[in-house]
Amino acid sequence: MADPATNGANTSDADLDVIVVGAGFAGLYQLRRLRELGYRVKVIEAGSDIGGIWHWNCYPGARVDTYGSIYQYSDPELVKDWDYSETYPGWDELREYFDYVDKKLDLRKDVILNTRVTGANFDEDKNVWQVKTDDGKTTTAQFFVLCTGFAAKAHIPDIEGLDSFKGAKHHTGLWPQEGLDFTGKRVAVIGTGSSGVQVVQEAAKTASELTLFQRTPNLTLPMGQHTISKEESAKLKEDYPRLFARRAETFAGFDFDFLDKGALEVSEQERYDTYMRLWKEGSFIWWIGTFNDVLFNQEANDTQYAFWRDETRKRISDPVLKEKFAPMTAFHPWGVKRPALEQGFYECFDQDNVHLVDIRETPIERFTETGITTSTDHMDFDIIVLATGFDSVSGGLMQIDITGTKGKSLADKWKEGLRAHIGMACSDFPNLIFVYGPQSPSAFCNGPSCAELQGEWVVQFVDDMRKRGVSRVEATTEAEESWRESVLEMTDATLFPKGNSWYMGANIPGKPRELVAYPGGLNDYLAKLKDCAENNYTGFELK
Ligand code: FAD
Repeated sequence: MADPATNGANTSDADLDVIVVGAGFAGLYQLRRLRELGYRVKVIEAGSDIGGIWHWNCYPGARVDTYGSIYQYSDPELVKDWDYSETYPGWDELREYFDYVDKKLDLRKDVILNTRVTGANFDEDKNVWQVKTDDGKTTTAQFFVLCTGFAAKAHIPDIEGLDSFKGAKHHTGLWPQEGLDFTGKRVAVIGTGSSGVQVVQEAAKTASELTLFQRTPNLTLPMGQHTISKEESAKLKEDYPRLFARRAETFAGFDFDFLDKGALEVSEQERYDTYMRLWKEGSFIWWIGTFNDVLFNQEANDTQYAFWRDETRKRISDPVLKEKFAPMTAFHPWGVKRPALEQGFYECFDQDNVHLVDIRETPIERFTETGITTSTDHMDFDIIVLATGFDSVSGGLMQIDITGTKGKSLADKWKEGLRAHIGMACSDFPNLIFVYGPQSPSAFCNGPSCAELQGEWVVQFVDDMRKRGVSRVEATTEAEESWRESVLEMTDATLFPKGNSWYMGANIPGKPRELVAYPGGLNDYLAKLKDCAENNYTGFELK
């Protein structure tokens, strides 16, 4: 229990002060900080270990697209003894990182593993959440903090005969923990999101035949991967104070930001030189460190696409594949779908064992016991990889049966569109907060940056409520409507609605077409959070 001398809450009969769901970067940050402040807190985690998406996404090639320096907690005590071995570490090294963090902070003892939160309802007499888990238990806490991430609900498309396939068939986000060897196997990969690109690069090395089923090409960027020696790592660390401080000042929680000029404001030569300079850096800088009009103005965007297309086509030898992967006319504006960082993706298709099926031309009709039938062909496979993405951000929350005070579930509330004041709280759902959730920077933000910067606001919010003796705090309907309006308005100013992306919910049949994340940038978002707190939590009712 938090120190009663400083915290006036009346929840002494609740089992816990705070229940956190999810043991990824965000949930573990909550655990650590709330525990430090003296709260009784437990994390409930469906997976068999900590690490969040790096527990589930252990498919061959799974790796982070954010450079490791900024894909970690910023605490100097953690930073000082940790060195990633590559600029862009893989899932296995990220797991080692979480082990390391646990060794330093002793987190696992407060994480309940192998346990899924299935439902929750608010007890209005006691102002506590009753949280139900799949082991049949109910646990109560004053605050319910959901850190379920963006990928807690895998999307498996409704394809005829899906279950009839007798070989191995796995979604990338539900990959078997014991691994799966592609050596000598006929492998199909369905989907060209980041996971699809990553699996292809690995499977091409050992599969006897590898077939990628593509609907829309991924407008990838070169990863610029390299190994990091201990000496190099020590040198990098000298810059970490700047790097970590800079995160809060930028759009996406990185240490770089959009340029302060537009592509249409500069000469053709300057534009080309800038694109080339950023391209050579090899990271998301070419996406979220480019000219500031590219994601807003189609004409500006066309210049970026043309550069991308021309550079990419140089890497593809087959003229048919040039058009499939980097078409002369883009399917959608550049950057409105998440680009994968690739390492040798296009070169894989120079190998005799690697093939592409364009499912716009020859759609998949059904799965059979032995493989996949398209409109023109049947192909046998040993392994089918469903790199088909996620019901992103909101899906993981809506699959939990959370009932609000008016008897409506969260899933019902969001059926017609997302509503979350400051991207964190809903009316009729008191004392419930999301980190890295809908209408917050989440999907547009470096994961650990959100976990810490948004996460710390949540820690202070909980602490402040307890210190003030507030037992019930709830967003107002007006506040969530107004937040929604501002997100929709900002979205309309961008090119994002022109792409059928998971950012827009467009990959899930029936999901409302709207941005799942806050498009104003982390820097702008943090300013709004500060404002909210400083003005006695604008948009919340405190009781
Ligand atoms: P997560 O790491 O997703 O953790 C959420 C946890 O909640 C999971 O362990 C899940 O099991 C648990 N959970 C969910 N629902 C329940 C429930 N009902 N009961 C119990 N437990 C539950 N972000 C970047 O910034 N850069 C990248 O390069 C990058 N690469 C990515 C690659 C992949 C393959 C994926 C899937 C995501 C990637 N992301 C990346 C996004 C990533 O989600 C964030 O970086 C970060 O992991 C978010 O941390 P989190 O703690 O919010 O959520």
